[in-house]
Amino acid sequence: MNAGKIMTLHEADEDRRVARSAMRGILIAASNLHAADSADLMTRAEKVAVVAATHAAAVDAESRFPKEAIDAARAERLLSAAVPPELGGDGASTSDIVDVCYMLGRNCASTAMIYAMHQTKVACLVRHGRSSAWHQRLLRRLCAEQLLLASSTTEGRAGGDVRNSSAPIEWRDSRITLERQATVISYAEAADGIVTTARRSPEAASSDQVLVAFLKDDYALKRLNGWDAFGMRGTCSEGFTLSAAGSAEQILPVSYDKIHAQTMMPFAHLAWSGAWAGIAAAAVDRARAFVRKATHGGGGTLPPAAQHLTRANASLRTLRSLITAALQRFEAATSDPAALESIDFQTGMNMLKVNASELAVATVMSAMQACGLAGYRNDSEFSVGRHLRDILSSPVMISNDRILANIGAASLLSSTPASLRD
Ligand SMILES: Cc1cc2nc3c(=O)[nH]c(=O)nc-3n(C[C@H](O)[C@H](O)[C@H](O)COP(=O)(O)OP(=O)(O)OC[C@H]3O[C@@H](n4cnc5c(N)ncnc54)[C@H](O)[C@@H]3O)c2cc1C
Repeated sequence: MNAGKIMTLHEADEDRRVARSAMRGILIAASNLHAADSADLMTRAEKVAVVAATHAAAVDAESRFPKEAIDAARAERLLSAAVPPELGGDGASTSDIVDVCYMLGRNCASTAMIYAMHQTKVACLVRHGRSSAWHQRLLRRLCAEQLLLASSTTEGRAGGDVRNSSAPIEWRDSRITLERQATVISYAEAADGIVTTARRSPEAASSDQVLVAFLKDDYALKRLNGWDAFGMRGTCSEGFTLSAAGSAEQILPVSYDKIHAQTMMPFAHLAWSGAWAGIAAAAVDRARAFVRKATHGGGGTLPPAAQHLTRANASLRTLRSLITAALQRFEAATSDPAALESIDFQTGMNMLKVNASELAVATVMSAMQACGLAGYRNDSEFSVGRHLRDILSSPVMISNDRILANIGAASLLSSTPASLRD
């Protein structure tokens, strides 16, 4: 429009139409770009999933770290997928990462859970380390060297009480030390760094916590207990005395209560649920193959156990939609700390963990019943023994009882929405 010319209503409408269509074009281009990036990530994840599947039985039988799969993840740069592009990553969304967990879970539960735990730590660093030069450098290194991060929250006999720490950070000027009885740290010996909770100082209350990143050169591990577990055997979730020293800059600049509410808890529950859904999907695949074979062998008549496949399918579908809805909710609230910290959101994300683990267990149980003895045996192509052992970790990985007890009071405060769409 020429300066000084008064715009007619028609011209203004036309201007708005052009602007809208340009904006639509930009949005479509941006979403196409995102779709292309997602597709590329999934193609790379598929390559890792193939490697994970090849070694899954040995990883389980030998209770060993899935080195081949994690090496493949490094080669495909999957460890830095969620780091922003300006630091060297792909800027993958939470949905993308959870989808990768699902894909890996279909092939090797331990690989999927290791990836889920690593990504949870990355999410905390990306969101809460923005104002810290030390953590920005760490993320750049993570991208360049494909560093694998482990997580330490479990301490002493306190089990899954993530929001309390016993061992304090000891301060000497700008240097810090920490010695904690870390009774469970998955893949601690294979990791390049450990991100741990700790009490802020010797004077602080147990709930006044910080989150600190230590790199391998910063700590020594002294084994407390091994890991000969029922399932998730490749996570190598052994116990150690963790003795660490570093600079005060390694403490994330945001207090752990905020990190926990905004990122650690929701992201972990989403990523774990993705991995568990993958395990459940793999069990359903076996049950479907078994029922197809039985139907074919029975001259086209469905075997009576087919009803269990129907149940397995249905609970898997519910599980998938539960995760999808929670992902949408998390991604919609991601730039709104108040929404993330609201009682309703916190309850929803805690219940996601409880419900997803229960649905995943139910799905694998139905798959096993569909296969009958062929599912129960370890030496059958339709065995779901490994899936069942792996999935039984889900209700105890932060006990569902503990979560339900912690959010009990919130149920009294909330009211039932008037509409189904609220
Ligand atoms: C595969 C796997 C990998 C893991 N990896 C890691 C890791 O890398 N890093 C890490 O720090 N931790 C890790 N953990 C540990 C996990 O985070 C929990 O700390 C652990 O699963 C809790 O163990 P627990 O059952 O002994 O403890 P608790 O939480 O003490 O639970 C013990 C029992 O007490 C009951 N209970 C406890 N509290 C309550 C309550 N308030 N109300 C009612 N009942 C209650 C429950 O019934 C529960 O069965 C991992 C766990 C698994 C299974």
